[in-house]
Amino acid sequence: MTQRADVVVIGGGQAGLAAGYHLRRLRVDFVILDAQPTPGGAWQHTWDSLRLFSPAAYSSLPGRLMPPQSGETYPDAGHVVEYLAEYEKRYELPVQHGVHVQAVRRDGDRLWVEADSGSWRARAVISATGTWSRPFRPAIPGWELFAGRQLHTVGYRRPVGFAGQRVIVVGGGNSGAQIAADLASHGELTWVTQRPPRFLPDAIDGRVLFDVATTRRRALDSGAGDTGGVASLGDIVAVPPVRDARDAGLLKAEPMFTHLDAHGPVWADGTSTAADVIIWCTGFRPALSHLAPLGLRDQRGHIPTGGTRALGEPRLHLLGYGDWTGPASATLIGVGRPARDAAREIAQRLGIVEKCRP
Ligand code: FAD
Repeated sequence: MTQRADVVVIGGGQAGLAAGYHLRRLRVDFVILDAQPTPGGAWQHTWDSLRLFSPAAYSSLPGRLMPPQSGETYPDAGHVVEYLAEYEKRYELPVQHGVHVQAVRRDGDRLWVEADSGSWRARAVISATGTWSRPFRPAIPGWELFAGRQLHTVGYRRPVGFAGQRVIVVGGGNSGAQIAADLASHGELTWVTQRPPRFLPDAIDGRVLFDVATTRRRALDSGAGDTGGVASLGDIVAVPPVRDARDAGLLKAEPMFTHLDAHGPVWADGTSTAADVIIWCTGFRPALSHLAPLGLRDQRGHIPTGGTRALGEPRLHLLGYGDWTGPASATLIGVGRPARDAAREIAQRLGIVEKCRP
């Protein structure tokens, strides 16, 4: 069955909900299609001990502050899921859960959105599908030879089950550090990073990172040059579990191994370490395969945008994913502004509102 909507938002995580909040305020006719059967986007699938790198109030979507989590400065993922579920309900956002969009195609003056449970003809589409469904693992020679178990960040939930095992955690970002900290006192941990781990100073958390990302974007947009951004400060936010493990001397990293054999990693000096499990905390890529029929991707695999709008398809906006769709667009606090801009731009183009004030 084909349905019509002025705007179809694909993805009902934080980015899709923030877009919904602004579309609702502008009285745009829209629907949000989300593959997950329940609210909360990717936060439903992260490991139990994950801590946000900002306090609750600095992890809020437009319109509604995230309430603090009792006893925690930095809320856990379960708290974010509760907040997003409540947000969806409070603003009566029309989210259809359990709907997976397979393709978006051009269809005359509309975009044709093809999902597993039906299709929609829309005047505009906002894609907000995140990165969680596209885990990235580097091409390391010999990975297929390793006889033990390999999993990615997306497959890790808690230390139970790893007791007594020789675990290699690969990755020097927040996921690698948090999972290494989680496992440090269970089994035999080797933490491997491409360069020596760069912990941010303890006083720096997501609040500062957001300001730095915003300043960088403004500088780039005004042609003033690259201020270095978040990456220039360090890679790992010292949230309490990471800080505790680091201070206890449990987070010592080894440089990256050269390849894997059947038993485990082989190091640059030719020695090797026997391992039972390798956990690849090596990042994600944007989940954009549903947009492939539009033929918009560049060599990096991104879709070039002006603000949130796809340069090659003015009816398509992208939200979340990374700084390329707005400063800190892939964070809770950062997605509000690009979501507002996307909703306004669409409402103007559809003639629903006059030009909005900046
Ligand atoms: P998601 O939460 O992934 O939501 C996308 C939704 O779209 C999902 O429900 C998905 O099922 C659905 N979807 C995907 N493809 C389709 C399709 N084809 N059809 C229909 N639906 C689809 N940010 C912070 O602000 N603070 C933090 O502390 C923080 N910590 C992080 C820690 C980790 C380990 C990670 C990975 C990220 C962290 N982030 C943090 C970044 C960011 O906030 C999250 O990645 C967030 O989940 C991104 O939200 P999103 O809405 O863009 O994507």
